[in-house]
Amino acid sequence: MSKPILLSSPNLEGNEKKYIEEVLQSPFLAAGGSFLEKFENGFSPIISPYNLIALNSGTSAIHMALVLLGVSAGDEVICQSFTFCASANPIIYLGAKPVFVDSEEDTWNICPIALEEAIKDRLKLGIKPKAIIVVDLFGMPAKYDDICAISEKYEIPIIEDAAESLGSSYRGKSCGTFGKLGIFSFNGNKIITTGGGGALISDDVKLLERGKYLATQAREKIHYFEHHAIGYNYRMGNVPAAMGLGQLELLDEKVSKRRSVFTNYVKLLHLCTGLSFLEEIEGAYSNRWLTTIQIDEEVSGFDREMLRTALESAQIESRYLWQPLHMQLAYKGIPYYGADNAENIFKKGLCLPSSAHLTLEDQTIVAKVILNLYQKASISNV
Ligand SMILES: *Cc1c(COP(=O)(O)O)cnc(C)c1O
Repeated sequence: MSKPILLSSPNLEGNEKKYIEEVLQSPFLAAGGSFLEKFENGFSPIISPYNLIALNSGTSAIHMALVLLGVSAGDEVICQSFTFCASANPIIYLGAKPVFVDSEEDTWNICPIALEEAIKDRLKLGIKPKAIIVVDLFGMPAKYDDICAISEKYEIPIIEDAAESLGSSYRGKSCGTFGKLGIFSFNGNKIITTGGGGALISDDVKLLERGKYLATQAREKIHYFEHHAIGYNYRMGNVPAAMGLGQLELLDEKVSKRRSVFTNYVKLLHLCTGLSFLEEIEGAYSNRWLTTIQIDEEVSGFDREMLRTALESAQIESRYLWQPLHMQLAYKGIPYYGADNAENIFKKGLCLPSSAHLTLEDQTIVAKVILNLYQKASISNV
């Protein structure tokens, strides 16, 4: 049997092993080692004049961002509904309340019109939301011209969830740097990985310094343990940072490979009418973390589940898009603004294998399964 083709698997072809070996020889395995500093500094060329601190997950980075903006019990925070649960869960950890907003068709990210409608309605109810969580889903930048203008107009800060969009940019500005605070994730399937990890980003040095303090158990800088605040154990260790540095050194390559995975699929599948791909809007540059397709069942003759199972039988992993949070039981009763864009995109969508090290041969195998299904479906349609 041939090897399965996975959705998004990591690739350690750089200096990861060498760096990890180096840390293991040192007494500094936890936070505070030299690799942590090197890893953090390695982001400067991408995010400058913003800075970054490395944390132990993207989820804890979102939690930290909310804490730094003073979000507490009873507050409301606006959040894109079409996203992974980790964008919204930290709001609930704090006893605060999410308000979900629909996506727009161009970018699949938060719809500026629905966002403003949500803000106006919350204000009318006498509630001013404390923050807006914007996600760059699947690596595609959100429509920041409009979203930043709304954030400024209503003086509500943005937290940019750039967990999936390290290496993406909009009008030449890197994703992660559009809000008061931003976050990256270095989970196993993301564009670069530290096994598990994340980062908090800001251009406000004081705020980030406060984040570092709170993420290190709010430990005062004295030789014994004295605490003036309740902190968190959220800092990244030196071992994952060593791995992260090896990964970060090859970021450009990983992004250009994922982008060519996308263009290869477009070429390989161009005969399959009924399938469409998400285009970049003017000014947008996507890292193409995952290649996603939309299936118009009436034209293609098959839906996402038929395609997913056909791929699965050929040992190819594909996955539905993130299920919008407002559709899910865990978030029942949470206010939602917008129409049914996110829901429609979700129902027609599928993520295809998109690892940076995916070969053209593997992609051809994936495309053959899709084209076979298309042929069978169109014969049975006649
Ligand atoms: C992966 C992801 C996160 C969470 O990151 P972790 O490092 O897994 O905690 C948050 N938001 C989005 C959109 C993600 O894809």
